[in-house]
Amino acid sequence: MLTPRLPLPSGVPVPMCFCGDPCKVANSDEEETYHQRYWMCENYAFDPPARVIRIGLMTPPPLCDFKQWIDTEIKEEDKKYLELCKKWEAERLERLEKRRQEEAAEKERKQEMERRHAAA
Ligand SMILES: [Zn+2]
Repeated sequence: MLTPRLPLPSGVPVPMCFCGDPCKVANSDEEETYHQRYWMCENYAFDPPARVIRIGLMTPPPLCDFKQWIDTEIKEEDKKYLELCKKWEAERLERLEKRRQEEAAEKERKQEMERRHAAA
């Protein structure tokens, strides 16, 4: 899968990769560095499906792991977004837990009724 090409940050010289090609800008999707931009190897995203490599249709260029951060902090708006995501996740877990408890209570009620029936 090819990462969409991001605009180059203006006024920042494009570093050359170990491969000798100019780097491209990529966007982090890790939580700790969410949406921070970094320079990465232009060739790195070249990622044909394994099948294509196996049957020799394509020879991938040597991959290198050149990586240089452009942004060193997560943007304020992205931080807010991450916090929202965490909040949603916490709410989702809370709902799940509540449902689990309700189901457990319901099961207990049924068992109690059965016991009473059996005793009668
Ligand atoms: Zn490279």
